[in-house]
Amino acid sequence: MKKTDVLIIGGSAAGLTAAITARRHYPDKKILLIRKEQLVPIPCGIPYIFGTVGSPQKNLIPDTPLEKNNVDFVIDGVTEIDPEARTVTTESGETVGYDKLVLATGSLPMMPPIPGFEKENVFPVYKDVPHLEHMQTMVSSSKRIAVIGGGFIGVEFSDECNKEGSHEVTVLELLPHCLQLAFDQEFCEEAEKLLSSRGVRIMADRKVTAIEGNGRATKVKLADGSALDTDMVVVGIGTTANVELAKNAGLRLGPTGSIWVNRTMRTSNEHISACGDCAEKFSFFGGIPSKLKLASIASSEARIAGANLFGIQRESVGTIGVFSSAIGDTAFAVAGMSENFARSQGYDVITGKAEGPNRHPGMMPGAAKQTVKLMFEKRTKKLIGTQMMGDWAVGELINVASACIQHGMTIDDIACFQMGTHPALTASPVVYQFVNAAESALLAQS
Ligand SMILES: Cc1cc2nc3c(=O)[nH]c(=O)nc-3n(C[C@H](O)[C@H](O)[C@H](O)COP(=O)(O)OP(=O)(O)OC[C@H]3O[C@@H](n4cnc5c(N)ncnc54)[C@H](O)[C@@H]3O)c2cc1C
Repeated sequence: MKKTDVLIIGGSAAGLTAAITARRHYPDKKILLIRKEQLVPIPCGIPYIFGTVGSPQKNLIPDTPLEKNNVDFVIDGVTEIDPEARTVTTESGETVGYDKLVLATGSLPMMPPIPGFEKENVFPVYKDVPHLEHMQTMVSSSKRIAVIGGGFIGVEFSDECNKEGSHEVTVLELLPHCLQLAFDQEFCEEAEKLLSSRGVRIMADRKVTAIEGNGRATKVKLADGSALDTDMVVVGIGTTANVELAKNAGLRLGPTGSIWVNRTMRTSNEHISACGDCAEKFSFFGGIPSKLKLASIASSEARIAGANLFGIQRESVGTIGVFSSAIGDTAFAVAGMSENFARSQGYDVITGKAEGPNRHPGMMPGAAKQTVKLMFEKRTKKLIGTQMMGDWAVGELINVASACIQHGMTIDDIACFQMGTHPALTASPVVYQFVNAAESALLAQS
């Protein structure tokens, strides 16, 4: 029987980061990673395969970080964990013993219980190269593409598929607006305007009731009785934690059905940790269960799990929810709660907004409008949410906002924030939108 000090199951964002972190913290331990797939796609790059990047083969996580960090890895599927014996069994019939086990088994696409979703040209988004190659072939040969789900995955897919110019792409969204779970209405409307201007048809506030066709999907039926003709369907309505192994091993599950972990990423078994999409999460705001599943959260949790293997060094603060996306040259970014969500949770919210050019003077090359909206909790004056829209720099500026949220910065802290500026790179220090939005919130509260 093979034996290792640390065994990691999963080779994507969480598994890879846990392995590298474990190596940094425990240079003398033997680390083995088992993953199912020969080639691991960069999960967040998947929509870009269909436009900007061009193929699944150009969107791969390399094995070099594993090799450089002296992490052994095998391609195999783990079929069973025996927590008592501290062993796992694999599809190839191997038994591997471990001292510490990290579960990073990720998530699987959600499929609604609606008739017709099993048809051959209906594609959930599996993070799997052969599946994505097949999907790419289908996209190339399809004129009409229906994308079910107008969250950031659906929006990115439709914009990328539409880039080639020869497709008619339609997004079908259940809620009144695309991106509504993350952004407030004014940002959703801007995103929709942009997507429509680029040729994507948006059908929001529509419920899909069935996918019809003889073997192949040819129509998407909607609750209002209408139907959309299509040549293929992409389903991007979210993911569920892949917990089968953990459940069969008797590990406790959390309130959202993911693997229960404490703040140190330990599961209900002291020798087993879990991180990434498979692990249960709680929100930074109020500690309520969180269904957010992001690569950024997965890597952060993996840095905690990897460091804590043989002694607790780090604890999770909960999910803030930071991410960005782009439609053409315009980026959209969010950190923390939207105004809408915060109010629905009972927070008394003060908002501030600022917009202006991202360069000074505004005729500098690369100038574009940047909009920043900040949400503060009225009682503590602490930042609880940020939304941004503008040039691609907002993809990084949102990370500054996340740090401000995580460290409890208040309206005044941000209004007096010392930012670095440069005419060719940023907005003017006088009108710096992130700071001015806080100033505008100060006015709103007085
Ligand atoms: C299209 C798309 C776009 C996205 N864009 C973004 C983005 O822009 N930003 C962002 O932050 N997040 C994004 N996400 C979310 C992000 O992809 C996930 O949060 C991330 O992949 C989670 O990583 P993970 O390692 O936890 O799980 P996964 O990526 O799901 O990986 C799970 C791993 O476990 C392995 N595994 C599972 N079961 C077994 C087993 N029994 N034996 C061996 N191995 C096993 C799998 O082979 C795989 O290697 C996107 C997701 C999708 C689908």
